[in-house]
This record gives sequence, C-alpha cells and structure tokens, in this order.
Amino acid sequence: TSAEKNMVLDQAKERQVKFVRLQFSDIFGIPKNVSIPVEQLPKALDGDIAFDGSSIDGFVRIEESDMMLKPDSSTFTVFPWTPKESRVARLICDVALPDGQPFMGCPRTALRRALAEAEELGYSAFNVGPEAEFFLFHMDQEGNPTTITHDKAGYFDLTPVDLGENARREMVLTLEAMGFEIEASHHELAPGQHEIDFKYDNALAVADKVMTFKFVVRTIAQRHGLHASFMPKPVYGIAGSGMHMNQSLFKGEQNVFFDPQGERQLSQEAYHYIAGLMEHVKAMTAITNPIVNSYKRLVSGFEAPVYIAWSAQNRSPLIRIPAKRGMSTRVELRNPDPSCNPYLALTVALKAGLDGIKRKLMPPAAVDRNIYTMTEKERAELSIGQLPMSLQEALEELQKNQVIQEALGPHIYERYIEAKLSEWDNYRIRVHPWEIEQYLTRY
Ligand code: ADP
Ligand code: GLU
Ligand code: MG
Ligand code: MG
Repeated sequence: TSAEKNMVLDQAKERQVKFVRLQFSDIFGIPKNVSIPVEQLPKALDGDIAFDGSSIDGFVRIEESDMMLKPDSSTFTVFPWTPKESRVARLICDVALPDGQPFMGCPRTALRRALAEAEELGYSAFNVGPEAEFFLFHMDQEGNPTTITHDKAGYFDLTPVDLGENARREMVLTLEAMGFEIEASHHELAPGQHEIDFKYDNALAVADKVMTFKFVVRTIAQRHGLHASFMPKPVYGIAGSGMHMNQSLFKGEQNVFFDPQGERQLSQEAYHYIAGLMEHVKAMTAITNPIVNSYKRLVSGFEAPVYIAWSAQNRSPLIRIPAKRGMSTRVELRNPDPSCNPYLALTVALKAGLDGIKRKLMPPAAVDRNIYTMTEKERAELSIGQLPMSLQEALEELQKNQVIQEALGPHIYERYIEAKLSEWDNYRIRVHPWEIEQYLTRY
C-alpha cells in the first residue's frame, strides 16, 4: 500500500540511507541482490526494477530473461555496520514476471503459496523457530578459510582473547539492531561451533531472517578475521551443524498444537502434523539437506538424526517435542541443516504437515530410547525407517513424491532435480582423499 511505501521512504530519509539492496533468493537459497541509489527507491517500491533472470541459477532461459522485483516493504532494514556516509539498507523482494504475475521459480513465492493453503485450512500463522548452528574457522596467512577452529588455536595462543566469543557477541548485537529478538546464544558441542537462537516468527519472516542471519554472521566473522561456515559437516569426527526447525500452527492467538486434555497435552492436529512430516521426510530431505556434504552429518553419534522416529524425550530421533507447552508447544524437526534454502525447506515441511492433517494420519508410537544403540532387528520390530543416506537417495525419494513435488511447483522441481543430479554426479565421479589413503598403496 502507499502508506507502507511512504513509511519506507521516510525511514530511508531519516536514517540517511544512500543505497538500497533489493534482495531475493535463487532456488538454492543463495542470496542475490541489485543495489540501487536511494533516489531510485520510489521506483523500486512500485515494483518497477527489472533484472536479467537468465543469469540466476534455476530461474529462466535467455529467451525469457526479463524479471521484475516486488519489494516487501515490511522487510526494510538498515545494515548497521555500514558507515553513515554510504549507509546501505535492504528490501527483500518477490520475483515477478514482466506482466506482474508471480514467477513460479521464486522460492519466496512458493512459500507464500503453501502459507495460503494453510490459511484456507483455517490456520492464521505457521510459526517457526530455527536453530542455526555454525563454525567459526581461522583464516590462513593468505586469508583463505581453513577448518582450524579458534578454540584450538586459542588453546596455545598467547593472548587470552577468544576471537570466537567476541565475534559472537557482536553478531548478537548487530542482529538485535536489525530487529531480531535473540533468545540465546551459546557455544555448541564441537570446538569452534556456535549457535544463536532467535524468537520464532511467521514462516515468511523467518525464512527472510535466516537469509539475513547467515549474511550477518559471515559479515561479522570476517570483520574479526574469522570465517563463518554453515557447511553441515565441515570436520569428520566431531558434531556437524544442524538447523532444527521448531514448528507450530496458530489460529489467531491459539497454538493449535496445544491441548490441555490431549495425550502429552498435544492436540490431534499436532499428532497428524508429526505423522505428515514422517510420511514425507525422505523426499523432503532432498530440500532440507540439499548438498552432498549434508549426508555426512546424518550419521550416528552426533545428535543428528539418522532414523525416522519421534520422541518427547531424547535427541536422537528425527522429531522431538520439547517439554514446553502452552504457546510454546511445538514440533522440532531435527534433520534440516543450514545449507538449505529456508523458503523451500519451510514450504515442504508445511505441506507435509498439512497433508498429515488433511489425511488425519497418526504417527507410530513414540520412541523414547536412544535409537543409535538399537540393533537393526529392534528397529525393524518398531518399524523405524531410515533417512536417505546420500543426496542421490534423497533425490530418488523426491522423484517419487507427488506432495513434495507439488509443494515446490513444476518450475522449481524440475530445475532443482536437474541441478542436484548433476551435483551428485560431479561428486560421484571424483577420486576422494579417503580412497587414496586407503587404496593407493594397498592395491
Ligand atoms: P532446544 O531445546 O532445541 O535447544 P531452543 O530453546 O534452543 O531449543 O530453541 C527453541 C526455538 O523454538 C526458538 O527459536 C523459539 O523461539 C522457538 N519456539 C518457541 N515456541 C515456539 C512455537 N510455538 N512455535 C515455533 N517455534 C517456537
Ligand atoms: N549439532 C547437532 C546436529 O547436527 C545438534 C545439537 C543440538 O541438539 O543442539 O543436529
Ligand atoms: Mg544446537
Ligand atoms: Mg534444538
């Protein structure tokens, strides 16, 4: 509306913004942006900025390259670290066709479609709290990132200053200045591994926030001479980085997953939602765990899920129901990792959960024991399935799953599959260091 546009223009003036980045996401969740001088802002707010979509991965072919950016006024934010003389702000955009129609290749638009379906079913909000973990690594002499952590270097270091802690504190302060409500930040299990949690919000805002979060964490790390990585398993033998997604559906002010009379104080809808996630998780994994390396994290022993089960108690299953009830009643999906496209990951999770609700699916009994230590026979008796073990397996599951394909829409689905199959193939044909180590002298 014009009131919202005027508010953005006023804010830009008040904060003395000089440049505005119009930001959007490609289908892999890689942020893209066009920078405009602030004088162009009124034009941008009218959705009149065009760009060449053919140079964006997974968008369009050369022949149909004109795309338009439709900024979402509610996302206007100033980058607090930019100096006053050249202050930069950003707006997050949906991508549209030249005639103004929504572009089916835009991940943010895909999430909007899924949210519209939730709304049709009577849910006013899909709330999500992500827990993105990451590593802070040292740079080498040439300024290239390594997988050496600050903790290790700090151990033998002469200065008692922990670069990681300082960087994390500044990350929190910067995120707060950008409107994030930070709930907690802590050192994670592995050396050099950190987590910063922010308060849940509706899924669209949260997907935007995840994009911003990663960008801020990387930017601030760099300013401290560190490299922040959201790679799911950068180092063999220690914990990887997940991005658990806490999810709940609201009707107005009511959390519909909470039912004081229900078993474990969970509603029927909560159980259906859990069952929907479990029904579709193998195909969803192609989206929530999108890279070759994602599957090096999904192994036993590091609090990452391997088996398809749920529990209200321990952290080895795929789905955990944290103890809090009332407004905080939520389903924690533990397989997603921070390399995923947050828009698409939330799109497929929501569609899977809604499918469970529509079909009134019920989950199997909760598994409150450590699944890692069960035998294969015990798991078979409880019919506990297993998550895909490789990107290839996940892609095969996605190719069989209509619900998840529909969630993505044909445009994104086809381009995603094509790109990911080729990524897998690229990996598959290479000779890896482990093979040389094991075989070169033995054969
Ligand atoms: P964990 O127990 O896994 O460490 P945390 O306390 O670190 O969980 O993270 C909890 C996340 O869940 C936060 O982002 C929080 O805002 C979010 N959360 C709380 N209530 C809800 C809710 N009703 N729906 C979705 N997310 C929620
Ligand atoms: N790092 C673990 C993972 O890969 C999660 C640890 C935790 O429960 O916070 O999912
Ligand atoms: Mg954690
Ligand atoms: Mg968690």
